[in-house]
Amino acid sequence: MRQSEIFTKILKEAPKDEKSLNSQLLVRGGFVDKLMAGVYSYLPLGFMVLKKIESIIVEEMKKIRASQVLLPALHPKENWQKTGRWQYPEMFKLKGRAGKDFSLGWTHEEIITPLVKKFVKSYRDLPVCVYQIQDKFRDELRAKSGLLRGIEFIMKDMYSFHADEKDLDNFYEKAKKSYFKIFERCGLAKNTFLTLASGGTFSKYSHEFQTVTPYGEDEIYLCEKCRLAINKEIIEQEHYTCPNCKNKKLEVKKAIEVGNIFSLKDKFTKTFDFKFHDKSGAEKTVLMGCYGIGLGRLLGAVVEVHHDEKGIIWPSEVAPFAVHLISLENTAKVKKAAQDLYEDLLKEGTEVLYDNREKSAGEKFAEADLIGIPLRLVVSERTLKENCVEVKKRDEEKAKLIKIKDVNSLLRC
Ligand code: ATP
Ligand code: MG
Repeated sequence: MRQSEIFTKILKEAPKDEKSLNSQLLVRGGFVDKLMAGVYSYLPLGFMVLKKIESIIVEEMKKIRASQVLLPALHPKENWQKTGRWQYPEMFKLKGRAGKDFSLGWTHEEIITPLVKKFVKSYRDLPVCVYQIQDKFRDELRAKSGLLRGIEFIMKDMYSFHADEKDLDNFYEKAKKSYFKIFERCGLAKNTFLTLASGGTFSKYSHEFQTVTPYGEDEIYLCEKCRLAINKEIIEQEHYTCPNCKNKKLEVKKAIEVGNIFSLKDKFTKTFDFKFHDKSGAEKTVLMGCYGIGLGRLLGAVVEVHHDEKGIIWPSEVAPFAVHLISLENTAKVKKAAQDLYEDLLKEGTEVLYDNREKSAGEKFAEADLIGIPLRLVVSERTLKENCVEVKKRDEEKAKLIKIKDVNSLLRC
């Protein structure tokens, strides 16, 4: 894509009301725009990153055989009354013209449970595992952290249904591994820790995936020995000791909760009277788990972790483009060489952003650093003298010259 075709502009400074690091960089780079606190538009570059994250999730979900659905965001009051969550403080409520009450979905247990119940009658119909990637709405009071805490935000929420605890536990472990794989592919492997959280009335623990960064909203207690973390809510109940290895040396860290998984057991299935016939024909209640990842929060967390004073440094799998091709000096020779290289790269299937705009080298480099594409290629009179382009990785200081004819093979390895 040519950079001149992107309708947004890079901002020299972040708007004053953007306080968080992720939103400052993302707004300046033209990835997102704030409509109001907690509500952001994804602009072309931001939407590309979002789609990259989405496809990582979809690929990993395929591996654990979860099927994708899309549930309504608009819900009837009745489902929520049934579970006693109609009074949930973060839920937005609306009234239709005929007086009917609706709500906007902040989670979907109340919708998915009666839906799956329609199709599952026997043990042969189980397990079922479905997920969606959809907007959620929560009346958050402190929406000050950019994409980390939205009032409208995109969540991947998954729900699994099982015949017995063993099957639920097995799937729960599979989902846990799969979530780590997702965070690893997003470049957060080193910073993301499995964290024990309250399991509510139905399990001893739930598990959060917490990404350590200095501006995280949460606080975790990270075991220096086994690297399990315990969240702030339950550390007192655990007597400030790691429940896994009994170590008392815990580091307190700020972190972002990028994902959360719960073994719900019969919490919702009982309320919706969701039963199945087991092998002997006896009726049993279906058991359930739920698994969430915030896509916007994950995108924001990637920025909080991967940046320097000049801008974002996208990990390769989530970068909007693989290569940022920049032409300097608008001479016919440079223009032609850059254009040829651009077409060559496209032919090879490389995702490339081509900066063919008439701007100074300084401006182009500063903007490229802010946008954060992993590899920069520069074509100029100087590089062409040697039939070369200048190559620089976003996270390295040094640039080097390589022959134009070798660019494609460099990108392949
Ligand atoms: P938090 O404690 O941060 O409010 P939560 O426990 O309410 O999170 P869940 O209901 O478990 O979150 O939602 C699943 C996932 O959705 C979270 O792990 C997080 O990644 C994401 N998420 C939750 N609330 C928001 C929000 N307001 N904005 C963006 N993402 C969110
Ligand atoms: Mg919350």
